[in-house]
Amino acid sequence: MRALERVRIVLVGTQHPRNIGSAARALKTMGFGAMHLVAPAMFPHPEAQALAAGADDLLEGAGVHPGLSEAVAGCTLVLGSTATQRAVPMPELSPREAAVRLLEASRQGEVALVFGPERTGLENAELQLCHASVCIPTDPAFSSLNLAQAVQVLAYELRLTAMAQEGLENARPPLDARPPATHEAMERFFGHLDQTLHAIDFHKGRSGITVMRRLRRLFLRAAPDERELRMLHGILADAQRMARLAGAKKNL
Ligand code: SAH
Repeated sequence: MRALERVRIVLVGTQHPRNIGSAARALKTMGFGAMHLVAPAMFPHPEAQALAAGADDLLEGAGVHPGLSEAVAGCTLVLGSTATQRAVPMPELSPREAAVRLLEASRQGEVALVFGPERTGLENAELQLCHASVCIPTDPAFSSLNLAQAVQVLAYELRLTAMAQEGLENARPPLDARPPATHEAMERFFGHLDQTLHAIDFHKGRSGITVMRRLRRLFLRAAPDERELRMLHGILADAQRMARLAGAKKNL
């Protein structure tokens, strides 16, 4: 997914290689192709590979940086995820707000989402580098998620938001789309359709008003363009011709 390519996921000071592996797996399932590590305690490590369960490409390609500044160099927006409120006063975003902000900003450059070490979380000095924090709303009495699970939740939010945005873009008509037929053209088509239904005796003695009303709804909803209408007119003309032939045969 193109939108996710410019969101840099950064894991700071991860202690357990298994968490690095699980995070790689979590990221790959959500369509991320890269991860960044800041001073991991043990990396590379066979346990990271074991837990990555096939997301080895993310591990092999992981950028390893000495500090957070280096990992987020060039980013125009940096969000730090935290389980608890910190001493550093900064705006706190919900996962959804964070996903929207990150993807919006990613249109103009790279952005980063940062995760802290298992035991201590991000240090205040590291949070100072962030524009805002992100908190997954958990039970306040038990608020800290496992690192890789926090990665999974936030990566999922990013994917949902990216999918919704992509859906909106796909819903826009492509540039070469033909405009829908005009009101007059539609009315000409409805006239032709009505005439044809009578010619082929579709209504079998009933008035056909309800059928016509439903067909109008159907075609107005479809909003055909002029070329599509020409094809429909062609089909109606053929149907009328067949009906005439059948009538002529009967009269022989
Ligand atoms: N005791 C630490 C917990 C660290 S858990 C603390 O209070 O921050 C490791 C990392 O997982 C955190 O630094 C954070 O990046 C992420 N994380 C865990 N729970 C989270 C939550 N509820 N919301 C956002 N991030 C969370």
